[in-house]
Amino acid sequence: MTLTPALEAGTEVPPAERVIDVRDLRMRYGAKDVLQGVTFAARRGQVLALLGPNGAGKTTTIEILEGFRVRSSGEVTVLGADPASAGEAWRARIGVVLQSWRDHGKWRVRELLGHLGAYYGRYSTEARVRPWPVDDLLDVVGLTASADKRVLRLSGGQRRRLDVAIGIVGRPDLLFLDEPTVGFDPEARRDFHDLVHRLTDVDDTTILLTTHDLDEAEKLADRILILSGGRIIADGSADELSRRVAGESEIRWTRDGQRFVHSAADPVPHLRELLQQYGDDIADLEVRRNSLEDTYMRLVHDFEGGPK
Ligand code: ADP
Repeated sequence: MTLTPALEAGTEVPPAERVIDVRDLRMRYGAKDVLQGVTFAARRGQVLALLGPNGAGKTTTIEILEGFRVRSSGEVTVLGADPASAGEAWRARIGVVLQSWRDHGKWRVRELLGHLGAYYGRYSTEARVRPWPVDDLLDVVGLTASADKRVLRLSGGQRRRLDVAIGIVGRPDLLFLDEPTVGFDPEARRDFHDLVHRLTDVDDTTILLTTHDLDEAEKLADRILILSGGRIIADGSADELSRRVAGESEIRWTRDGQRFVHSAADPVPHLRELLQQYGDDIADLEVRRNSLEDTYMRLVHDFEGGPK
């Protein structure tokens, strides 16, 4: 069970508990500096969402942490090792859900997962038995009914579930998810969110995900990191970020069947007055703070210095 507070600014996570530790990470492609000093840390069992405009360097950051790209400079430690030089045993503790698994179309789902899972057997430990038993895994990702289907016969949503199953078959300590729910219908998305909670609660898996779906980030992430202009410009829970951005709250209610909406920087005095004046006649009362989307737009917009 993860009981980590909603936010530690990453640098406050004690070094011994850092599953991810990134200091002053820089990446240059040709003459272009994409990452210009990215610093953050994550502790075990945390879910981090990395947000940012297209081209901000999210994929670059994740691929450096996965060991798929070599950074220009900076210190990066992932599960106690430098991804640029870490070996097979380290790799076995990491799960990656890529955009979509295109190979092995002729394999049947159960066979493929059994085959891929077998690789992890030698990295099994008492604390973390590897691989995930195929039938349990099929159940957890909702593919039991498709277990004997060939991969190329799966629907888009089933295919994505398979991507997720492939990413977690080795029961990773750390899981990277790149836009995990693109193409999911609402039910598949909800199942996936349940799965993420299960992975963090039961297995204490640390998760770093990218998404453009801010509602998803808000639902899943303990911490949200916003990458813009080559740096992390915000780091906190959705609530904390929304408090950083001054904005109006929206109060909605109905009275005698009529709907009302009122905006206020501080909703409390208005609510007090409303209840004092109308008491039991007030129904359907709702107070809505800045959504993560409002907050995100403001932070990125302010950082970039407004429209160009
Ligand atoms: P994001 O995932 O946030 O959209 P990326 O990490 O994919 O951002 O890309 C960040 C920037 O780096 C983009 O401008 C992209 O064009 C550039 N870039 C990414 N990979 C390479 C590469 N291999 N060579 C040169 N430029 C690259």
